[in-house]
Amino acid sequence: MIKYSLVCEKNHDFEGWFGSSDDYDKQSKRGFVECPQCGSKKNSKALMAPGVVGTKKSNDGNQAVANIAPQMPEEVVTKIREIKQHIAKNSENVGDRFPEEARKIHYGESEVRGIYGKASIKEAVELAEEGVKVTPIPDLPEDKN
Ligand SMILES: [Zn+2]
Repeated sequence: MIKYSLVCEKNHDFEGWFGSSDDYDKQSKRGFVECPQCGSKKNSKALMAPGVVGTKKSNDGNQAVANIAPQMPEEVVTKIREIKQHIAKNSENVGDRFPEEARKIHYGESEVRGIYGKASIKEAVELAEEGVKVTPIPDLPEDKN
């Protein structure tokens, strides 16, 4: 026997026991299934809500990683691009000599000017510890080309 949740044409919920799904269909067609509240013989099986328990999939780990490192939103990329263009126009590109030049400017050994270039995280931290003002700018996908 299977217990079905049923609903009549007036949306009354009730339950009925049947031998099988076919058994319900046959009994319902013959008018043997009656709503206990209004006596309607027009009814159907209530739709079951999809189960959400026990559906954990093995790829949950991958989704977690994707959530931790989302893609940079387009407006952020655009903003960073603008900042980089502004820096490129107004500063001197010293490339890999950046930590060295930044230090020279900081200690007054070199002309004070805006410079930009490359520094490793370690170098940037060392500069910051010495009191040199360094603004890290994130790499954009196009920079890696
Ligand atoms: Zn009813």
